[in-house]
Amino acid sequence: MRRTLFENIVRGPLTEPRPEPDEESLAELAQTLDRTARKRLGRSLSIREVDAGSCNACELEIHALNNAFYDLERFGLRFVASPRHADVLLVTGPVTKNMEEALSRTYAATPDPKWVVAVGNCAFDGGIFADSYAVTGGVSKVLPVSLHIRGCPPSPMALLKGLIALIEPGDRR
Ligand code: SF4
Repeated sequence: MRRTLFENIVRGPLTEPRPEPDEESLAELAQTLDRTARKRLGRSLSIREVDAGSCNACELEIHALNNAFYDLERFGLRFVASPRHADVLLVTGPVTKNMEEALSRTYAATPDPKWVVAVGNCAFDGGIFADSYAVTGGVSKVLPVSLHIRGCPPSPMALLKGLIALIEPGDRR
């Protein structure tokens, strides 16, 4: 017991240090949001995740953000259970035809101001499902997207860098 206590004191935290925001994400946000909108984003955000037809690998990486290693909440970012409590919709998948209306309704249920982040290559342009008859296409075909975080799936660190870009002060660029 004493040894464990001593080890915990000398070892230091095991969590990942705060990464720098992703430069590409900052550039995209500067293009998609005007200065006023960036200021309204603030330093803490509530996020509602929406699976619009993904293969669920993107969700596995998103779930990892809540573990003790990445510990998303220490940056002021937290997941919420309802779009009515959300500032940001984090959308995965190539928006299947079956999910198109549900996604639009979720967006309508989210109070203004709100922002949409599309996660994964599927959410960008349909990815490997792009030619499917069952798919509408990337999230931007259905909703206005402020930020894309690409990858198949994007790693937790890539997600973290993109999300941290969201809470960077708007006048950095
Ligand atoms: S981007 Fe890749 S991991 Fe994410 S939903 Fe599409 S196929 Fe799955």
